[in-house]
Amino acid sequence: MSDSHYDVAIIGAGMVGSTLASLLSRTGFSVALVEAHEPQPFDAEAETGLRVSAISPGSAAVLEQAGAWKLISAQRCRPYRRMQVEDGMELDPLLFDAPVFNLERLGTIIENALVQWSLWQVVSAGGQVDIYCPDMLDGIEPGQKQSRITLKSGKRINAELVVGADGASSELRKAIGIRQDYRAYNQHGLVAVVGKQKPNPGVAWQRFMPGGPLAFLPLADGSSSIVWTRSSIEAQRLLALDNDAFMDELDSASSGWLGRVESCGPRAAFPLSMRLSETYAAQRTVLVGDAAHVVHPLAGQGVNLGFLDAAALTETLVRARSSGIDIGAAGVLQKYDRWRRAESEAMAFGMHALRSFFSHDGLSPLRRIGLALVKRSWTAKDMFLQKAAGTGKNAPKLATGVTLQELMRN
Ligand SMILES: Cc1cc2nc3c(=O)[nH]c(=O)nc-3n(C[C@H](O)[C@H](O)[C@H](O)COP(=O)(O)OP(=O)(O)OC[C@H]3O[C@@H](n4cnc5c(N)ncnc54)[C@H](O)[C@@H]3O)c2cc1C
Repeated sequence: MSDSHYDVAIIGAGMVGSTLASLLSRTGFSVALVEAHEPQPFDAEAETGLRVSAISPGSAAVLEQAGAWKLISAQRCRPYRRMQVEDGMELDPLLFDAPVFNLERLGTIIENALVQWSLWQVVSAGGQVDIYCPDMLDGIEPGQKQSRITLKSGKRINAELVVGADGASSELRKAIGIRQDYRAYNQHGLVAVVGKQKPNPGVAWQRFMPGGPLAFLPLADGSSSIVWTRSSIEAQRLLALDNDAFMDELDSASSGWLGRVESCGPRAAFPLSMRLSETYAAQRTVLVGDAAHVVHPLAGQGVNLGFLDAAALTETLVRARSSGIDIGAAGVLQKYDRWRRAESEAMAFGMHALRSFFSHDGLSPLRRIGLALVKRSWTAKDMFLQKAAGTGKNAPKLATGVTLQELMRN
């Protein structure tokens, strides 16, 4: 079997890998995309899925340049203009309103399945991305001028650059020998679709409680998608309750907001951890998305960081190619590594600190300091929001509204 040759081979076609494949193929790179499982077609008639993400305006801009935003926004999505953070104790709610920060919206709540399916349609339609699916990475041999990857099917691919977008347990990261700082939180994020007495008016609401935060994210039909962080033991107990008993507990945890809990769909829980790779680039290989970093979901930033990785890598590679530099050269990949690792580590440790502030019981001074600091300081609030919106100082150009054509001209 002869080898196929590409500029870039991407392992993993989750939300981040597919976005990167589309951006790179649209800027003229030849791309191979390897994925273990083809995503299910999105069914708009089915119940809302359990996995949703709060997609920032910066990520929406990246998805637009990837050609997927039109498909996504034509389906059920819910923009939100207000974020309300409280501790259910002594502090008044902290409000973030989009117009105050000159934003049209703070973000959009979208089912992961919709994002994934829309991107899959984009990458499979153009004919510019060669998709290897179902297939998996079997091995990698990094070389001086290119790397060779072998797939489980026996197919072989040579590429100047190999990208690991294969999620938190990345086989590519392990194969290349990149180590990680891994901290298990011994917590789970319990998710469900919940209806309250009053419909959600388009507010992302979060209450910090001693056991962990509880978030209600607005959905298109007025219901909310909840993410309830609890200790792993407590999450198993909540999962085992019958629906009425669960709704009673959720009721008291979210008391005072939008009335009683009136309905609750199926529940699931996901283990939470922080994972930071020691580098995002080595031997003609780079990591993006959860393969590079996993952060606590309390501010809904995981996949948003991944979309910005995809945009930043595209910008770095376009620049290298326009200067005639090898896209897999160590100097090029180090630029990407420095840029994105600094951003992701700041976000991961920020979430880690917030989580610690609020996991203290009762009227701990630390709890009080946490919210009060952000509340009093306009600059902190503004910076926090810019980061959350994905449009801060170090944001990739594609997240700030620059188009692929403009990126290639500059
Ligand atoms: C409870 C919870 C709530 C969250 N809420 C938010 C939120 O509101 N906002 C937000 O930004 N983030 C959120 N996140 C984080 C977000 O879900 C992840 O960051 C995101 O899904 C990661 O996407 P990815 O494409 O990097 O990786 P993945 O989604 O893990 O995709 C990896 C892909 O690679 C494929 N693959 C794996 N191994 C191989 C292999 N060897 N060969 C070929 N293919 C392979 C897999 O099949 C998969 O398709 C949340 C997370 C949790 C747990």
